[in-house]
Amino acid sequence: MNDKIEKILFTEEEIKARVAEMAKEINDYYKGEPVVVISVLKGSVFFVVDLIKKLDMDIALDFIAASSYGSGTVSSGKLKIKKDIELDIVGKNILLLEDIIDTGETLFEIINMLKARGVKSIKTAMMFNKPARREKAVEADFIGFDIPDEFVIGYGLDYDEQFRNLPYLGVLKRSVYEK
Ligand code: 5GP
Ligand code: MG
Repeated sequence: MNDKIEKILFTEEEIKARVAEMAKEINDYYKGEPVVVISVLKGSVFFVVDLIKKLDMDIALDFIAASSYGSGTVSSGKLKIKKDIELDIVGKNILLLEDIIDTGETLFEIINMLKARGVKSIKTAMMFNKPARREKAVEADFIGFDIPDEFVIGYGLDYDEQFRNLPYLGVLKRSVYEK
């Protein structure tokens, strides 16, 4: 284990097993209808790659980037779209993938923006959910794991752009960011 990690919340195997279950839930929901998967960069790239290999409907894939925490561990509360999607999504079923839902701000803003473009439907899948910190009235349709209110890293999630490559979800030692 990386020496900056306090503890592991979910191992690589546990995440893999849960992603497979989520794929089944999503396949059962769409029943073969085509879907445009939109992955929120950069955190959800591990999740999207693992998940869509197991989806059995026709999938188009696109990416969107919104501003995040910068190098801090507390949300700044202002969301900016840094990179928009490229596909035309009018009349399409959208499945929006995020790494984690915390206050709900990111999801809330992106959902509203995509809805305004005349999509047929929009559903959301989050790998991790921190229900304790929700501020916006927005919920994910498919959730991997609920987690406690701790700053987590790994499986795509970063602290100051580091630790995304860890295959597990871990809690960072406070000494790494409290100096
Ligand atoms: P929200 O807008 O729901 O407050 O936050 C969503 C975004 O904040 C996520 O996409 C992620 O980038 C970041 N975030 C929220 N909680 C955590 C966390 O515990 N660890 C990391 N690395 N990022 C987080
Ligand atoms: Mg981030």
